[in-house]
Amino acid sequence: LRKACDNGELLLYYQPRIRLSDRRTTGVEALLRWQHPSRGLLTPADFMPVAIESGLIRTIDQWVLKAACGQNKAWQDQGLPSIRVSVNISQSLFHYHGFVDLVRQTLADSGLPAGYLELELTETIAMANVDTSIRKLSELTAIGIQLSIDDFGTGYSSLSYLQRLSLNMVKIDQSFVGEIETNEGCAFITKAIISMAHSLNLFVLAEGVETREQLDVLLGLGCERFQGSLFSPPLLPDRADEI
Ligand code: C2E
Ligand code: MG
Ligand code: MG
Repeated sequence: LRKACDNGELLLYYQPRIRLSDRRTTGVEALLRWQHPSRGLLTPADFMPVAIESGLIRTIDQWVLKAACGQNKAWQDQGLPSIRVSVNISQSLFHYHGFVDLVRQTLADSGLPAGYLELELTETIAMANVDTSIRKLSELTAIGIQLSIDDFGTGYSSLSYLQRLSLNMVKIDQSFVGEIETNEGCAFITKAIISMAHSLNLFVLAEGVETREQLDVLLGLGCERFQGSLFSPPLLPDRADEI
């Protein structure tokens, strides 16, 4: 993995997010891949554990942040419609003391306006050292960055703290979406997340939407933003015209 970083074997795919009310792509999520010389294209499940264990994750996530901001600026410079890029942030990078400055510097270096960057954290990351999280998230919001909670419903959240974090959106985990038609519990949880998000004035996005039937249930529950193979798989950046 260390060699992969040095040899430029890491790359990003981008998966569109759709707002169905006006059928617009509002943004893309940057998703990390490793083009392994002998094993082919690897997904994070194949190498994240080793990245975390070795401590390389922080370096990798810094590269992802830089690459995603640079790519989005390049799309803007090509005259493509401006969209937001979202980047998954690991525990290690978020809790690094210089994180906010690093984000600020990365934006400045790339020339991307802050409003076109979103950061995704899990509940577990945001709730660890919650007072520090509250401070960091409000600093990031002050810069103009959007913030979302990823995989919502699978970790641990304190609702009173959730309200104090400067968030824009919660993303409903795909494990709930995947069973939304067959498992009554998943449908109830999804319904509760959507209504909680709306009450807290947060956007809500459903991840991993694969079928028309899942979409119909989600629409019925009041969800308007989606990401998943029903709309588009993650794409290489040169296919941005399809986004
Ligand atoms: P995530 O952030 O929740 O990303 C969504 C995952 O769902 C992605 O998996 C995406 O490819 C997959 N997905 C998209 N549409 C569908 C669908 O319709 N059905 C199903 N079953 N899955 C779908 P991926 O790319 O393998 O990434 C897995 C996880 O790895 C991500 O989950 C995220 O937690 C982590 N990850 C990805 N890129 C990065 C990164 O740059 N840095 C860090 N720290 N973590 C990353
Ligand atoms: Mg994510
Ligand atoms: Mg997720």
